[in-house]
Amino acid sequence: MKHFDAIIIGTGQAGPSLAARFAGAGKTVAIIERHKFGGTCVNTGCIPTKTMVASAYAVHVARRGAEYGFAANGDVRVDMKRVKARKDAVSGRSNRGVEDWLRGLKNCTVLQGHARFQSPNTVALNDEVLEADKIFINVGGRASVPEMPGIDDVSFLTNSSMMDVDFLPKHLVIVGGSYVGLEFGQMYRRFGSEVTIVEMGPRLIGREDEDVSQGVREILEAEGIQIRLNAKCISLAKCDGGVAVHVDCEDGPPDVFGTRVLLAVGRIPNTSDLGLDKAGVATDDRGYIIVDDQLQTNVAGIWALGDCNGRGAFTHTSYNDYEIVADNLFNADHRRVSDRILAYALYIDPPLGRCGMTDAEIRKSGRPALTTKYPMSRVGRAFEKGETQGFMKICVDAKTKQILGAAILGVGGDEVIHVLLDVMYAKVPYTVIERAMHIHPTVAEYLPTVLSKLEPLRRRQ
Ligand SMILES: Cc1cc2nc3c(=O)[nH]c(=O)nc-3n(C[C@H](O)[C@H](O)[C@H](O)COP(=O)(O)OP(=O)(O)OC[C@H]3O[C@@H](n4cnc5c(N)ncnc54)[C@H](O)[C@@H]3O)c2cc1C
Repeated sequence: MKHFDAIIIGTGQAGPSLAARFAGAGKTVAIIERHKFGGTCVNTGCIPTKTMVASAYAVHVARRGAEYGFAANGDVRVDMKRVKARKDAVSGRSNRGVEDWLRGLKNCTVLQGHARFQSPNTVALNDEVLEADKIFINVGGRASVPEMPGIDDVSFLTNSSMMDVDFLPKHLVIVGGSYVGLEFGQMYRRFGSEVTIVEMGPRLIGREDEDVSQGVREILEAEGIQIRLNAKCISLAKCDGGVAVHVDCEDGPPDVFGTRVLLAVGRIPNTSDLGLDKAGVATDDRGYIIVDDQLQTNVAGIWALGDCNGRGAFTHTSYNDYEIVADNLFNADHRRVSDRILAYALYIDPPLGRCGMTDAEIRKSGRPALTTKYPMSRVGRAFEKGETQGFMKICVDAKTKQILGAAILGVGGDEVIHVLLDVMYAKVPYTVIERAMHIHPTVAEYLPTVLSKLEPLRRRQ
């Protein structure tokens, strides 16, 4: 049996940095990967999709050439093989970067294969058993494939198999109107597919406020994406030339015929085949590993980081998990998960940047609050760029004047949101932003104007 100071299972967004931290501190560490180095973000998530979103944006702008004063000769044609090749190059660079980095670390042993616990301090891998005082689980998650009728009779795509697609589906039907589905939907529409998004709930991205869902819907519909909401009893069947998706909606025909179907209906953690029972590690009823505020499991010496702990579903939350664990172990700096403020972006174009609470959550909390909303059509920078869809919305606490939450749906929204996020972390009143001199012309220069229009948040919408 080989002994290490630490074993890390998975090379997602937390594991590699943690391995480097252990190795740098002169500790022996083994890091195990069963598939591709870098995990979801690098290979099938953020990096490849955002690379393709960039291709789709370029196509979209080229089609609007006449508005900007140039002529694209003839139709703008997309070569999906080249789109995929660009995506593979960008994603492959990160994948190799993670592997080379790990293999170059002194004190770090890189192992490949599927790891399973044998006991609280041993892990089996291929024919070996490894032992460590500390074990860190960073196994991530995968696309959920629900047991909907007909699922076994048709071939379907997930975010992973979409990465191999090098052709243009004539009609892509996407089941799931949340973040992953919407990004793929707009991108393929811009590449030239017909796109229908089928969503069970009454609106897209149901966790957001209604006006945000509506704003996103308008952006997508303006580009010709069909949206079918309230789709109950979804079933799949083979049909001539593709897949028939049966949707029992209130409006519209009961069947949507597509040439391909993409399932984007959520994620599940990779914890069912990890031998967690042998280690005694507890999970919740959805398979997420239960952790405390410092990411320790119920078993001393075992931590869980990233998507598999259910405390976040983003690259930045996984990396932040690494920072919390590393600072607690190496710096005696008592960082906690509850110190972080929810923040994320939806990478349709224009993007949605979000931080803190939604209006609905603020209303539910009962705290007195002020709110303000400003259309992007009145933002000079957006006007100059010809990208005026969306709005900025900010909510502040009426007593402390601290920002409670914000949504910036509009050009630059994914970047501008950080102005508000950092002020939230600083725990200072919004008036700091009002008095700051911002650069002209930017979207962020409008934040003082937006904040000058605060009014009481109505208890009911
Ligand atoms: C389409 C899509 C787009 C996304 N876009 C964004 C975005 O724009 N921004 C953002 O912040 N987030 C985005 N995400 C989410 C983001 O990718 C994940 O939150 C992030 O990658 C989680 O990382 P992780 O560290 O939890 O593990 P992962 O990156 O999932 O990595 C886990 C690794 O563990 C390995 N593994 C699993 N089980 C074992 C085992 N038993 N033995 C050995 N190895 C094992 C896996 O092979 C994998 O490599 C996106 C996700 C998807 C699907």
